[in-house]
Amino acid sequence: MNGQEDCRPSSVAVLGSTGSVGRQALDVAERLCIPVTLLSANRDTPLLEEQVRRFRPRICALGDAQAAASFALRVADTETKIYAGAAGIEQAISDCGAPVAVNAILGKAGLAPTLAVLRCGMRLALANKESLVSAGEAVMRAAEGNPILPVDSEHCAIFQCLEAGRRCEVKRLILTASGGPFFGYSADRLAHVTVADTLAHPTWQMGAKITVDSATMMNKGFEILEASHLFGIPPEQIQVVIHRESIIHSAVEYIDHAVIAQMSVPDMRLCVQHALTYPARMPGVVTELDLFRVGKLTFAPADEATFPLLPLAVSAGRAGGALPAVLNAANEAAVAAFLAGRLSFCGIFRVVGDTVAELDEARHESTLDGILYYDSLGRLRAEERIKGAFEH
Ligand code: MG
Repeated sequence: MNGQEDCRPSSVAVLGSTGSVGRQALDVAERLCIPVTLLSANRDTPLLEEQVRRFRPRICALGDAQAAASFALRVADTETKIYAGAAGIEQAISDCGAPVAVNAILGKAGLAPTLAVLRCGMRLALANKESLVSAGEAVMRAAEGNPILPVDSEHCAIFQCLEAGRRCEVKRLILTASGGPFFGYSADRLAHVTVADTLAHPTWQMGAKITVDSATMMNKGFEILEASHLFGIPPEQIQVVIHRESIIHSAVEYIDHAVIAQMSVPDMRLCVQHALTYPARMPGVVTELDLFRVGKLTFAPADEATFPLLPLAVSAGRAGGALPAVLNAANEAAVAAFLAGRLSFCGIFRVVGDTVAELDEARHESTLDGILYYDSLGRLRAEERIKGAFEH
């Protein structure tokens, strides 16, 4: 365990602690014996109470202010202070004193906390990719001089591969994708898939929203924009490669055509650990990669005709301004409707595509207020389309 004491942060804040990545972040903190000073979640849940009792954070913040009041009563016998509402989460970030925060909040609600963490000068271990998709420029401005450590397997891989050369020597980024449960499907076959089919991801254990995004390939579209902002590489220099085994998590090709890739078993906890201990490494929580068991690695191009949200994300990213925020907002609304049985799988493509086309003007608006405005408008317009769709 050489060097272990030197590279662990003195404590960690876990935002979005009841979600899939949040739970895995707590598992890493526990195994590496890193104290947790702040937990945040949206609602009062039995799991959040269990987490408060187990990790004894100084502060627990709930996004839902009403839920915070009843939660405070439930954990009144503990030392944990309860903060309420969106403003409470931001206050908790500045009060918690942790040098690093894992932001694993779902969707657009993660943006303000992302900015708050960066304002406080804390290291940001970022799992909330929507922050970068919607407001990438504002986030990267706020991060100046304060690196963001990505907690997304592809970006964590690229981050590591970029250490093999200089930025001006990068030819392209190779972003791998599992292809999700519907790889190889025709558009006709996609028209009949159900919520249960969609939630059966072949290689990764994730929350419902990102599992749907992974099945539509929207997740990969978001990841192109995420990588573009994080690493300052234009979307046209980022290639998506379907790699079903999820062993190579992404790669960087340099101008001499050397390709540096990062491999491991598919386990998000390695990304969390990397973000917490960087630039050091320590014996970890993830099992070792047995290449003989893996046997072979395969690669294929993405089918952009059948999965139109992938090229749509690239064009929204190129257009810039608040258009990616519209894309994200419409997608959040459409995915929620799909999970609730109010929209078909291919209905997601139509709702997102039509909303982005309708609000194309958003590309000319790049202030943070403008982005928030178009986020709300995108959600509203998408919701109107969902109501009008009468699908399913
Ligand atoms: Mg990913």
